[in-house]
Amino acid sequence: MSEAKGTAAGGHHAGGLPLSEARRRILDEVAPLIGQERVALGNALGRVLAENIHAPLDVPGADNAAMDGYAVRSVDVPGEGAVPLREVGCVLAGQARQQPLAAGECVRIMTGAPVPPGADAVVMQEQVERMEGAEVVVPGPVAAGTNIRRAGEDLAAGSVALGAGRRLRPQEVGVLGSLGCVEVAVHRRPVVAFLSTGDELCAPGQTPGPGQIHDSNRHLIGAALRRLGVEALDAGVIGDDVGALKAALSELGCYADAVITTGGVSVGEADTVKDAVDCAGDVAFWRVAVRPGRPLAFGRVGQSVFFGLPGNPVSAAATFYQLVQPALRRLMGEAGTLQPVQLPVIAAERLRKRPGRTEFQRGILEPGADGAVQVRSTGAQGSGMLTSLVHADCLIVLEAERGDVAAGETVQVQPLEGLQR
Ligand code: AMP
Ligand code: MG
Repeated sequence: MSEAKGTAAGGHHAGGLPLSEARRRILDEVAPLIGQERVALGNALGRVLAENIHAPLDVPGADNAAMDGYAVRSVDVPGEGAVPLREVGCVLAGQARQQPLAAGECVRIMTGAPVPPGADAVVMQEQVERMEGAEVVVPGPVAAGTNIRRAGEDLAAGSVALGAGRRLRPQEVGVLGSLGCVEVAVHRRPVVAFLSTGDELCAPGQTPGPGQIHDSNRHLIGAALRRLGVEALDAGVIGDDVGALKAALSELGCYADAVITTGGVSVGEADTVKDAVDCAGDVAFWRVAVRPGRPLAFGRVGQSVFFGLPGNPVSAAATFYQLVQPALRRLMGEAGTLQPVQLPVIAAERLRKRPGRTEFQRGILEPGADGAVQVRSTGAQGSGMLTSLVHADCLIVLEAERGDVAAGETVQVQPLEGLQR
Protein backbone atom coordinates (compact mmCIF):
# COMPACT_ATOMS: atom_id res chain seq x y z
CA MET A 1 0.00 0.00 0.00
CA SER A 2 3.04 2.20 -0.37
CA GLU A 3 2.57 3.74 -3.78
CA ALA A 4 2.49 7.53 -3.49
CA LYS A 5 -0.92 9.14 -3.73
CA GLY A 6 -1.64 10.68 -7.06
CA THR A 7 0.68 8.55 -9.16
CA ALA A 8 -0.76 7.64 -12.51
CA ALA A 9 -2.78 4.45 -12.66
CA GLY A 10 -0.42 1.77 -11.39
CA GLY A 11 3.01 3.44 -11.39
CA HIS A 12 4.68 3.18 -14.80
CA HIS A 13 1.80 1.15 -16.31
CA ALA A 14 -0.05 3.96 -18.08
CA GLY A 15 -2.80 1.64 -19.38
CA GLY A 16 -3.27 0.13 -15.96
CA LEU A 17 -1.55 -2.64 -14.02
CA PRO A 18 -1.34 -6.02 -15.76
CA LEU A 19 -4.07 -8.26 -14.33
CA SER A 20 -1.59 -10.74 -12.85
CA GLU A 21 0.23 -7.96 -11.00
CA ALA A 22 -3.02 -6.47 -9.70
CA ARG A 23 -4.02 -9.91 -8.43
CA ARG A 24 -0.69 -10.43 -6.73
CA ARG A 25 -0.71 -7.03 -5.08
CA ILE A 26 -4.26 -7.47 -3.85
CA LEU A 27 -3.62 -10.94 -2.42
CA ASP A 28 -0.37 -9.72 -0.80
CA GLU A 29 -2.39 -7.09 1.00
CA VAL A 30 -5.11 -9.39 2.33
CA ALA A 31 -4.60 -11.76 5.27
CA PRO A 32 -7.07 -14.35 6.61
CA LEU A 33 -9.28 -13.06 9.42
CA ILE A 34 -8.14 -14.15 12.86
CA GLY A 35 -11.49 -14.75 14.54
CA GLN A 36 -13.18 -18.14 14.56
CA GLU A 37 -16.30 -19.73 15.96
CA ARG A 38 -17.71 -23.21 16.38
CA VAL A 39 -20.73 -24.15 14.31
CA ALA A 40 -22.96 -27.23 14.22
CA LEU A 41 -22.68 -29.35 11.08
CA GLY A 42 -26.09 -28.13 9.95
CA ASN A 43 -24.72 -24.57 9.78
CA ALA A 44 -21.31 -25.42 8.36
CA LEU A 45 -22.08 -25.31 4.63
CA GLY A 46 -20.04 -22.62 2.85
CA ARG A 47 -17.92 -21.87 5.90
CA VAL A 48 -14.13 -22.25 5.90
CA LEU A 49 -12.50 -24.69 8.33
CA ALA A 50 -10.23 -23.08 10.91
CA GLU A 51 -8.80 -26.39 12.17
CA ASN A 52 -7.43 -29.61 10.75
CA ILE A 53 -9.95 -32.42 11.16
CA HIS A 54 -8.28 -35.73 11.95
CA ALA A 55 -10.18 -38.97 11.41
CA PRO A 56 -10.75 -40.41 14.91
CA LEU A 57 -11.49 -43.82 13.38
CA ASP A 58 -11.11 -45.79 10.20
CA VAL A 59 -13.74 -45.12 7.54
CA PRO A 60 -15.11 -47.63 6.80
CA GLY A 61 -14.60 -49.09 10.24
CA ALA A 62 -14.24 -52.72 9.08
CA ASP A 63 -13.78 -54.73 5.87
CA ASN A 64 -17.30 -54.93 4.45
CA ALA A 65 -19.29 -56.15 1.49
CA ALA A 66 -19.46 -53.90 -1.58
CA MET A 67 -22.34 -55.96 -2.99
CA ASP A 68 -25.24 -58.08 -1.86
CA GLY A 69 -24.01 -61.68 -2.22
CA TYR A 70 -22.12 -64.43 -0.45
CA ALA A 71 -19.00 -64.09 1.71
CA VAL A 72 -16.63 -66.93 0.86
CA ARG A 73 -13.08 -68.16 1.48
CA SER A 74 -11.28 -67.69 -1.85
CA VAL A 75 -9.24 -70.89 -1.18
CA ASP A 76 -12.49 -72.84 -1.48
CA VAL A 77 -13.09 -71.59 -5.05
CA PRO A 78 -9.60 -71.51 -6.58
CA GLY A 79 -10.17 -72.75 -10.13
CA GLU A 80 -12.37 -72.39 -13.20
CA GLY A 81 -15.10 -74.78 -12.08
CA ALA A 82 -18.23 -74.10 -9.99
CA VAL A 83 -18.02 -75.21 -6.35
CA PRO A 84 -20.93 -76.07 -4.04
CA LEU A 85 -20.71 -74.32 -0.64
CA ARG A 86 -22.90 -74.59 2.41
CA GLU A 87 -24.76 -71.46 3.47
CA VAL A 88 -24.38 -71.21 7.26
CA GLY A 89 -25.88 -67.81 8.02
CA CYS A 90 -26.68 -64.30 6.97
CA VAL A 91 -25.19 -60.88 7.93
CA LEU A 92 -27.23 -57.74 7.31
CA ALA A 93 -25.83 -54.20 7.46
CA GLY A 94 -25.71 -53.26 11.13
CA GLN A 95 -24.98 -56.83 12.22
CA ALA A 96 -21.57 -58.43 12.78
CA ARG A 97 -20.95 -62.16 12.64
CA GLN A 98 -18.22 -63.27 15.06
CA GLN A 99 -18.12 -66.96 14.14
CA PRO A 100 -15.35 -67.70 11.61
CA LEU A 101 -16.15 -69.34 8.29
CA ALA A 102 -14.97 -72.93 8.09
CA ALA A 103 -13.83 -74.74 4.93
CA GLY A 104 -16.67 -75.23 2.45
CA GLU A 105 -18.94 -72.66 4.08
CA CYS A 106 -20.37 -69.38 2.89
CA VAL A 107 -22.51 -66.66 4.47
CA ARG A 108 -25.18 -64.59 2.80
CA ILE A 109 -24.14 -60.95 3.20
CA MET A 110 -25.69 -57.57 2.41
CA THR A 111 -23.90 -54.44 1.16
CA GLY A 112 -22.11 -52.67 4.00
CA ALA A 113 -22.19 -55.62 6.40
CA PRO A 114 -18.82 -56.57 7.93
CA VAL A 115 -17.13 -59.53 6.24
CA PRO A 116 -17.13 -62.43 8.75
CA PRO A 117 -13.79 -63.71 10.05
CA GLY A 118 -12.23 -66.24 7.67
CA ALA A 119 -14.03 -64.91 4.58
CA ASP A 120 -11.92 -62.89 2.16
CA ALA A 121 -14.20 -62.30 -0.84
CA VAL A 122 -17.82 -61.57 -1.68
CA VAL A 123 -19.47 -63.16 -4.71
CA MET A 124 -22.35 -61.21 -6.25
CA GLN A 125 -25.67 -62.88 -5.61
CA GLU A 126 -26.51 -62.75 -9.34
CA GLN A 127 -23.53 -65.04 -10.04
CA VAL A 128 -24.43 -67.90 -7.70
CA GLU A 129 -27.01 -70.61 -8.04
CA ARG A 130 -29.08 -71.52 -4.99
CA MET A 131 -29.84 -75.22 -4.83
CA GLU A 132 -32.04 -77.36 -2.59
CA GLY A 133 -31.46 -76.94 1.12
CA ALA A 134 -28.48 -74.78 2.11
CA GLU A 135 -26.38 -75.46 -0.98
CA VAL A 136 -25.06 -72.56 -3.01
CA VAL A 137 -23.04 -73.12 -6.19
CA VAL A 138 -20.34 -70.52 -6.71
CA PRO A 139 -18.52 -70.15 -10.05
CA GLY A 140 -14.72 -69.97 -9.78
CA PRO A 141 -12.18 -68.66 -9.65
CA VAL A 142 -12.77 -66.15 -6.86
CA ALA A 143 -9.81 -63.89 -6.09
CA ALA A 144 -9.14 -62.79 -2.51
CA GLY A 145 -10.45 -59.25 -1.93
CA THR A 146 -13.20 -59.42 -4.55
CA ASN A 147 -16.09 -57.02 -3.72
CA ILE A 148 -14.65 -56.10 -0.33
CA ARG A 149 -14.32 -52.49 0.83
CA ARG A 150 -11.28 -52.35 3.08
CA ALA A 151 -11.31 -50.85 6.56
CA GLY A 152 -9.82 -47.34 6.35
CA GLU A 153 -9.79 -47.24 2.52
CA ASP A 154 -11.75 -43.96 2.54
CA LEU A 155 -10.02 -42.45 5.59
CA ALA A 156 -7.41 -44.03 7.83
CA ALA A 157 -7.67 -43.36 11.58
CA GLY A 158 -5.36 -40.49 12.53
CA SER A 159 -5.04 -39.03 9.03
CA VAL A 160 -6.05 -35.44 8.21
CA ALA A 161 -9.51 -35.84 6.72
CA LEU A 162 -10.01 -32.13 5.97
CA GLY A 163 -7.36 -29.44 6.30
CA ALA A 164 -7.76 -25.97 7.79
CA GLY A 165 -8.59 -23.48 5.04
CA ARG A 166 -10.97 -25.77 3.22
CA ARG A 167 -14.34 -24.38 2.21
CA LEU A 168 -17.10 -26.77 3.22
CA ARG A 169 -19.19 -28.02 0.33
CA PRO A 170 -21.92 -30.65 0.79
CA GLN A 171 -19.37 -33.46 0.41
CA GLU A 172 -17.08 -32.02 3.10
CA VAL A 173 -20.07 -31.70 5.44
CA GLY A 174 -20.82 -35.35 4.62
CA VAL A 175 -17.27 -36.40 5.52
CA LEU A 176 -17.53 -34.51 8.82
CA GLY A 177 -20.71 -36.45 9.44
CA SER A 178 -19.01 -39.77 8.64
CA LEU A 179 -16.42 -38.96 11.31
CA GLY A 180 -19.12 -38.37 13.89
CA CYS A 181 -18.38 -34.62 14.22
CA VAL A 182 -21.04 -32.58 15.96
CA GLU A 183 -19.53 -29.14 15.39
CA VAL A 184 -16.37 -27.67 13.83
CA ALA A 185 -14.24 -24.53 14.17
CA VAL A 186 -14.68 -22.19 11.21
CA HIS A 187 -13.35 -18.74 10.37
CA ARG A 188 -15.51 -15.81 11.27
CA ARG A 189 -17.43 -14.47 8.28
CA PRO A 190 -16.01 -11.16 7.02
CA VAL A 191 -18.30 -8.15 7.06
CA VAL A 192 -18.31 -6.77 3.53
CA ALA A 193 -20.03 -3.42 3.01
CA PHE A 194 -21.08 -2.41 -0.49
CA LEU A 195 -22.59 0.72 -1.97
CA SER A 196 -23.38 2.29 -5.31
CA THR A 197 -22.34 5.78 -6.31
CA GLY A 198 -24.01 8.05 -8.84
CA ASP A 199 -26.46 10.96 -8.94
CA GLU A 200 -28.31 9.15 -11.72
CA LEU A 201 -29.45 6.23 -9.59
CA CYS A 202 -33.17 6.14 -8.91
CA ALA A 203 -34.74 4.27 -5.97
CA PRO A 204 -36.44 0.93 -6.69
CA GLY A 205 -40.18 1.26 -7.21
CA GLN A 206 -39.87 4.80 -8.56
CA THR A 207 -40.08 5.72 -12.23
CA PRO A 208 -36.69 6.94 -13.47
CA GLY A 209 -36.79 10.63 -14.38
CA PRO A 210 -34.87 12.05 -17.33
CA GLY A 211 -31.28 10.85 -17.16
CA GLN A 212 -32.00 8.48 -14.28
CA ILE A 213 -31.49 4.71 -14.19
CA HIS A 214 -32.20 1.97 -11.70
CA ASP A 215 -29.31 0.57 -9.68
CA SER A 216 -28.27 -2.87 -10.90
CA ASN A 217 -24.80 -3.09 -9.35
CA ARG A 218 -25.82 -3.05 -5.71
CA HIS A 219 -28.18 -5.97 -6.29
CA LEU A 220 -25.65 -7.91 -8.35
CA ILE A 221 -22.75 -7.36 -5.94
CA GLY A 222 -24.96 -8.01 -2.91
CA ALA A 223 -26.12 -11.30 -4.43
CA ALA A 224 -22.57 -12.33 -5.33
CA LEU A 225 -21.46 -11.59 -1.76
CA ARG A 226 -24.30 -13.56 -0.22
CA ARG A 227 -23.54 -16.50 -2.45
CA LEU A 228 -19.88 -16.30 -1.42
CA GLY A 229 -20.99 -16.55 2.19
CA VAL A 230 -19.72 -13.28 3.64
CA GLU A 231 -21.82 -11.04 5.86
CA ALA A 232 -23.00 -8.63 3.16
CA LEU A 233 -23.87 -5.16 4.39
CA ASP A 234 -25.88 -3.01 1.98
CA ALA A 235 -24.76 0.59 2.52
CA GLY A 236 -27.13 2.03 -0.07
CA VAL A 237 -26.54 4.71 -2.68
CA ILE A 238 -24.28 7.75 -2.34
CA GLY A 239 -24.48 10.62 -4.84
CA ASP A 240 -21.48 11.99 -6.70
CA ASP A 241 -20.28 14.01 -3.77
CA VAL A 242 -16.74 13.57 -2.42
CA GLY A 243 -17.69 14.77 1.07
CA ALA A 244 -20.65 12.40 1.44
CA LEU A 245 -18.65 9.52 0.03
CA LYS A 246 -15.68 10.23 2.29
CA ALA A 247 -17.97 10.30 5.33
CA ALA A 248 -19.61 7.01 4.33
CA LEU A 249 -16.28 5.31 3.65
CA SER A 250 -14.77 6.56 6.91
CA GLU A 251 -17.70 5.15 8.85
CA LEU A 252 -17.72 1.79 7.04
CA GLY A 253 -13.94 1.61 7.43
CA CYS A 254 -14.43 1.51 11.22
CA TYR A 255 -16.12 -1.88 11.26
CA ALA A 256 -16.24 -3.56 7.86
CA ASP A 257 -13.49 -5.98 6.85
CA ALA A 258 -13.90 -4.93 3.22
CA VAL A 259 -15.72 -2.12 1.44
CA ILE A 260 -16.83 -2.28 -2.19
CA THR A 261 -18.16 0.64 -4.20
CA THR A 262 -19.27 0.76 -7.81
CA GLY A 263 -19.12 3.74 -10.16
CA GLY A 264 -17.22 6.97 -9.88
CA VAL A 265 -13.76 5.62 -10.67
CA SER A 266 -13.27 6.66 -14.28
CA VAL A 267 -11.63 9.96 -15.12
CA GLY A 268 -14.81 11.95 -15.78
CA GLU A 269 -15.87 15.08 -13.91
CA ALA A 270 -17.98 13.28 -11.37
CA ASP A 271 -15.46 10.61 -10.48
CA THR A 272 -15.41 10.96 -6.81
CA VAL A 273 -14.30 7.63 -5.44
CA LYS A 274 -10.56 8.03 -5.85
CA ASP A 275 -10.66 11.51 -4.27
CA ALA A 276 -12.77 10.26 -1.36
CA VAL A 277 -10.49 7.27 -0.70
CA ASP A 278 -7.43 9.50 -0.99
CA CYS A 279 -8.93 11.48 1.95
CA ALA A 280 -10.43 8.61 3.96
CA GLY A 281 -7.66 6.07 3.37
CA ASP A 282 -5.08 5.05 0.79
CA VAL A 283 -5.32 4.21 -2.89
CA ALA A 284 -2.68 1.65 -3.93
CA PHE A 285 -3.65 1.63 -7.61
CA TRP A 286 -6.69 2.58 -9.61
CA ARG A 287 -6.31 1.21 -13.10
CA VAL A 288 -5.97 -2.41 -14.22
CA ALA A 289 -5.40 -3.40 -17.84
CA VAL A 290 -8.62 -5.38 -18.22
CA ARG A 291 -11.66 -4.99 -20.41
CA PRO A 292 -14.31 -4.43 -19.38
CA GLY A 293 -13.36 -2.56 -16.23
CA ARG A 294 -10.07 -0.70 -16.57
CA PRO A 295 -10.80 1.82 -13.83
CA LEU A 296 -10.61 -0.14 -10.59
CA ALA A 297 -9.40 1.36 -7.36
CA PHE A 298 -7.75 -0.77 -4.73
CA GLY A 299 -6.60 0.41 -1.35
CA ARG A 300 -7.63 0.72 2.26
CA VAL A 301 -10.13 2.76 4.26
CA GLY A 302 -9.75 2.50 8.02
CA GLN A 303 -9.47 -1.20 8.89
CA SER A 304 -11.06 -2.31 5.62
CA VAL A 305 -9.61 -3.34 2.31
CA PHE A 306 -11.22 -1.19 -0.33
CA PHE A 307 -12.34 -2.02 -3.87
CA GLY A 308 -13.71 0.73 -6.10
CA LEU A 309 -15.30 -1.15 -9.00
CA PRO A 310 -16.33 0.47 -12.26
CA GLY A 311 -19.92 1.62 -12.76
CA ASN A 312 -20.85 -0.32 -15.86
CA PRO A 313 -22.58 -3.45 -14.57
CA VAL A 314 -20.65 -6.00 -16.66
CA SER A 315 -17.39 -4.31 -15.67
CA ALA A 316 -18.40 -4.40 -12.02
CA ALA A 317 -19.26 -8.09 -12.25
CA ALA A 318 -16.14 -9.07 -14.19
CA THR A 319 -13.74 -7.22 -11.89
CA PHE A 320 -15.57 -8.56 -8.84
CA TYR A 321 -14.97 -12.15 -9.93
CA GLN A 322 -11.40 -11.61 -11.11
CA LEU A 323 -10.04 -9.46 -8.31
CA VAL A 324 -12.45 -9.05 -5.39
CA GLN A 325 -13.72 -12.59 -4.92
CA PRO A 326 -10.23 -14.16 -4.66
CA ALA A 327 -9.31 -11.53 -2.05
CA LEU A 328 -12.50 -12.15 -0.08
CA ARG A 329 -11.87 -15.87 -0.19
CA ARG A 330 -8.45 -15.29 1.32
CA LEU A 331 -10.03 -13.02 3.94
CA MET A 332 -12.47 -15.85 4.69
CA GLY A 333 -9.49 -18.08 5.48
CA GLU A 334 -9.58 -20.21 2.36
CA ALA A 335 -6.27 -21.83 1.44
CA GLY A 336 -4.99 -22.95 -1.94
CA THR A 337 -5.71 -21.58 -5.38
CA LEU A 338 -8.21 -18.76 -5.19
CA GLN A 339 -8.23 -17.81 -8.86
CA PRO A 340 -11.17 -18.73 -11.09
CA VAL A 341 -10.88 -22.12 -12.78
CA GLN A 342 -9.74 -21.76 -16.40
CA LEU A 343 -10.07 -24.36 -19.16
CA PRO A 344 -8.87 -24.42 -22.77
CA VAL A 345 -11.57 -24.81 -25.43
CA ILE A 346 -11.87 -24.15 -29.16
CA ALA A 347 -13.28 -20.85 -30.41
CA ALA A 348 -16.29 -21.72 -32.61
CA GLU A 349 -16.12 -18.36 -34.36
CA ARG A 350 -13.96 -15.31 -34.84
CA LEU A 351 -13.63 -13.13 -31.73
CA ARG A 352 -12.68 -9.49 -32.07
CA LYS A 353 -9.97 -8.28 -29.69
CA ARG A 354 -7.49 -5.43 -29.63
CA PRO A 355 -4.07 -6.11 -28.08
CA GLY A 356 -3.32 -4.27 -24.82
CA ARG A 357 -5.70 -5.44 -22.11
CA THR A 358 -6.87 -8.81 -20.81
CA GLU A 359 -10.42 -9.20 -22.06
CA PHE A 360 -13.32 -11.02 -20.49
CA GLN A 361 -15.88 -11.71 -23.19
CA ARG A 362 -19.15 -13.41 -22.46
CA GLY A 363 -19.38 -16.87 -24.01
CA ILE A 364 -21.62 -19.89 -24.48
CA LEU A 365 -20.13 -23.39 -24.31
CA GLU A 366 -21.45 -26.04 -26.67
CA PRO A 367 -20.33 -29.32 -28.22
CA GLY A 368 -18.78 -28.93 -31.69
CA ALA A 369 -19.38 -31.24 -34.66
CA ASP A 370 -16.58 -33.54 -33.41
CA GLY A 371 -18.08 -33.60 -29.90
CA ALA A 372 -15.28 -31.47 -28.41
CA VAL A 373 -16.29 -28.44 -26.37
CA GLN A 374 -16.22 -25.11 -28.15
CA VAL A 375 -17.26 -21.61 -27.23
CA ARG A 376 -19.07 -18.86 -29.08
CA SER A 377 -19.73 -15.26 -28.17
CA THR A 378 -23.03 -14.12 -26.67
CA GLY A 379 -22.96 -11.32 -29.24
CA ALA A 380 -22.69 -7.60 -28.48
CA GLN A 381 -20.17 -7.10 -25.69
CA GLY A 382 -21.10 -3.65 -24.37
CA SER A 383 -20.08 -3.27 -20.73
CA GLY A 384 -23.48 -1.79 -19.94
CA MET A 385 -25.31 -4.83 -21.32
CA LEU A 386 -25.92 -6.97 -18.30
CA THR A 387 -27.98 -9.44 -20.33
CA SER A 388 -24.73 -10.50 -22.04
CA LEU A 389 -23.91 -12.15 -18.70
CA VAL A 390 -27.40 -13.59 -18.41
CA HIS A 391 -26.96 -15.35 -21.75
CA ALA A 392 -23.44 -16.48 -20.93
CA ASP A 393 -22.34 -19.66 -19.20
CA CYS A 394 -18.67 -18.71 -19.22
CA LEU A 395 -16.21 -15.87 -19.53
CA ILE A 396 -13.79 -16.11 -22.44
CA VAL A 397 -10.42 -14.89 -21.20
CA LEU A 398 -8.29 -13.35 -23.96
CA GLU A 399 -4.73 -12.58 -22.97
CA ALA A 400 -3.59 -8.94 -22.98
CA GLU A 401 -1.18 -9.23 -25.89
CA ARG A 402 -3.61 -11.18 -28.05
CA GLY A 403 -5.37 -9.72 -31.10
CA ASP A 404 -8.36 -11.09 -33.03
CA VAL A 405 -9.02 -14.79 -32.47
CA ALA A 406 -9.77 -16.93 -35.53
CA ALA A 407 -12.32 -19.76 -35.43
CA GLY A 408 -10.53 -22.95 -34.41
CA GLU A 409 -7.98 -21.28 -32.13
CA THR A 410 -7.76 -22.35 -28.50
CA VAL A 411 -9.00 -19.88 -25.89
CA GLN A 412 -9.32 -20.07 -22.12
CA VAL A 413 -12.75 -20.01 -20.51
CA GLN A 414 -13.93 -19.63 -16.94
CA PRO A 415 -17.24 -21.49 -16.38
CA LEU A 416 -19.72 -19.29 -14.52
CA GLU A 417 -21.44 -22.20 -12.76
CA GLY A 418 -20.55 -25.72 -11.78
CA LEU A 419 -22.56 -28.75 -10.81
CA GLN A 420 -23.14 -27.53 -7.28
CA ARG A 421 -25.17 -24.46 -6.43
P1 AMP B 1 -19.22 5.66 -13.71
O1 AMP B 1 -18.09 4.71 -13.48
O2 AMP B 1 -19.79 6.17 -12.44
O3 AMP B 1 -18.84 6.76 -14.65
O4 AMP B 1 -20.36 4.82 -14.40
C1 AMP B 1 -20.20 4.25 -15.68
C2 AMP B 1 -21.54 3.85 -16.26
O5 AMP B 1 -22.13 2.89 -15.41
C3 AMP B 1 -22.55 4.97 -16.35
O6 AMP B 1 -23.31 4.79 -17.51
C4 AMP B 1 -23.39 4.79 -15.13
O7 AMP B 1 -24.68 5.33 -15.27
C5 AMP B 1 -23.43 3.30 -15.01
N1 AMP B 1 -23.64 2.93 -13.62
C6 AMP B 1 -22.96 3.37 -12.56
N2 AMP B 1 -23.42 2.84 -11.43
C7 AMP B 1 -24.43 2.01 -11.79
C8 AMP B 1 -25.29 1.14 -11.06
N3 AMP B 1 -25.20 1.05 -9.74
N4 AMP B 1 -26.20 0.43 -11.75
C9 AMP B 1 -26.28 0.53 -13.10
N5 AMP B 1 -25.48 1.32 -13.83
C10 AMP B 1 -24.56 2.06 -13.19
MG1 MG C 1 -20.93 7.57 -11.74
